[in-house]
Amino acid sequence: MNIKNSTLVVFVTDASREIKKTKKYTALCDKNNFRIKYVNTDDFWIKKIEHAINIKDTKKRYSYIYDTVCDYIDKQYLDCNYCDFKDDVCIYFREKGETNHKNGCCYADFRDGICEHFENKSCNIKSISCKLYSCPLLRDNGINFKMRDIPIIKYFFSIRQKYYIKYSFFKPKVYVMNKLMEYKKK
Ligand code: SF4
Ligand code: SF4
Repeated sequence: MNIKNSTLVVFVTDASREIKKTKKYTALCDKNNFRIKYVNTDDFWIKKIEHAINIKDTKKRYSYIYDTVCDYIDKQYLDCNYCDFKDDVCIYFREKGETNHKNGCCYADFRDGICEHFENKSCNIKSISCKLYSCPLLRDNGINFKMRDIPIIKYFFSIRQKYYIKYSFFKPKVYVMNKLMEYKKK
């Protein structure tokens, strides 16, 4: 790496090795108000990390990360059709023989039916915790989004902040954002 015109330039030969240095690069750039530029790579997460480090406003950076993670998980579910809905019943409830259980895990008996955020067959909030959740069947099939496998969560947040990312089920983005800001590193 070298520094040119207030920009930390990182030449990437091994993406996963550079991703592991994210905390160090973030701290260096934030302390000195540097931008970062990774060169010689098209790696998906490095591009996202670069963008996040270059957002200097903490709230805007967190918001970008939140949206990026939600979009990433949504795309995986869409592209791979993990839940495989047929007539509004997902694969988990079809396999359990509960074909009256429509709309997958956005419906639950303990919540008296459909989640209050479920509208026009989709979620009207962007709950990162719901998106990170996978049911036992999906987990058995190896579909389990862990925060430690998502570098843009792993390297930008503290344990406390990660707790709110993981466990704020049915809560809107604004709730999680407030918690992320409340527990941001001083
Ligand atoms: S995560 Fe599992 S329970 Fe939820 S909709 Fe998908 S298959 Fe159904
Ligand atoms: S908040 Fe969670 S359970 Fe409710 S509609 Fe959205 S994704 Fe489904």
